[in-house]
Amino acid sequence: MEKKTSELQIEQFMKRCRENQLKVTPQRLAIYRELAENREHPSADRVYRSIVRTNPTISFDTVNRTLLTFAEIGVIDTVESHSSVRRFDTDHEPHHHLHCIQCGSIIDFYDSSLDALPLPKAAESSKFKVLGRRVVISGICENCRKPAQKN
Ligand SMILES: [Zn+2]
Ligand SMILES: [Zn+2]
Repeated sequence: MEKKTSELQIEQFMKRCRENQLKVTPQRLAIYRELAENREHPSADRVYRSIVRTNPTISFDTVNRTLLTFAEIGVIDTVESHSSVRRFDTDHEPHHHLHCIQCGSIIDFYDSSLDALPLPKAAESSKFKVLGRRVVISGICENCRKPAQKN
């Protein structure tokens, strides 16, 4: 699923950077755009491999640090994955995830009844400040369920 980055999204990104005294450099903007246009919740490695094609001088370390900075100031989210590899999400609309345990793909879905799910007792305690909620359905995606192609 591909989604074009809206100008509004870019504007909000730049505003958030300015609020956090983070300079919007061409590299940072390129990293954000790459992430926003890739709806597959890419890892830092995936973002790097795609960004390096148009920015040959960029290092993995720069991309990785930039993504972590973005997550810190809240322009992107880190999302759960089964491996230790961190994945990133630019979609701030309430949404939920289908997570394929075989290929690791994370597919967004929207469901207003899940958005309105009552909080469990454990999350109601005053010791826990709730910032968001997301339902993750794990399973095996369509691609992984297809019988292996024979050449
Ligand atoms: Zn899969
Ligand atoms: Zn998502």
